[in-house]
Amino acid sequence: MKTRNYGPAGVEELIKSHIRDIPDYPKPGIVFKDITPLLKDSSTFNSCIDALAQRLSGTDFDYIVGIEARGFIIGGALAYKMKKGFVPVRKKGKLPYDKISKSYQLEYGMETMEMHSDAIEKNSRVIVVDDLLATGGTASATAAMINSLGGSIAGFAFITELSFLNGRERLDSRNIVVLLRY
Ligand code: AMP
Repeated sequence: MKTRNYGPAGVEELIKSHIRDIPDYPKPGIVFKDITPLLKDSSTFNSCIDALAQRLSGTDFDYIVGIEARGFIIGGALAYKMKKGFVPVRKKGKLPYDKISKSYQLEYGMETMEMHSDAIEKNSRVIVVDDLLATGGTASATAAMINSLGGSIAGFAFITELSFLNGRERLDSRNIVVLLRY
C-alpha cells in the first residue's frame, strides 16, 4: 500500500469521512459518532495516532490513562507509539484490585468510573485519552481520580470534540489536543 503524508487539514478530512453519524443512539436526540470505520481503515487509524503523538511530542508525561472502552483503543495505540505505560479507567465493577471511583452525569445518563488505587504514583504526570469529548463529565471525573491519587494532568487527547457542549470548560488543563472539532 502507498504511504501518504497528511498535514493537519488532511487528518481532519480523513477523520470526517470515516466517522459515521448514528441519529438517536443510544437515546432520542443524541447523534452518536461511530468511530468503527475510522479504526477499520489502517491509513486513517495510523494518521490519527501519529497526529496525536506529534501534537503531544513536546509534553513531558509518564502515563497514558485510557477511558473504557474506545479510550483503550486510541490510548493503547498512543501509549505504544510514545513508549509510555498505559493505565485503564473502567466502568464500575470491572477492575479486580483495590480501587477508587467517581460518579458523574453523562450526556445520556449516570455513570461511575473506577481506577486501581495504586495505578498512579504521586507526582506522576498523565495524559487522559478518549475518542470523543462531549460534556467533559467522563474526562473531568477521570482527572479528579488521578488528582486524588496525587498525580497531575499533563493534558487531554481526543480524536473529536462536540464543541457545542463546552466540555473543555470543565477540563483543568490548557493542553487539550483534539484532531477534529464539530
Ligand atoms: P462526556 O462525558 O459527556 O464528555 O462524554 C464522553 C464519553 O461518552 C466518551 O467516552 C465518548 O465516547 C462518549 N460519548 C458521549 N457522547 C457521544 C456521542 N455523541 N457519540 C459518541 N460517543 C459519545
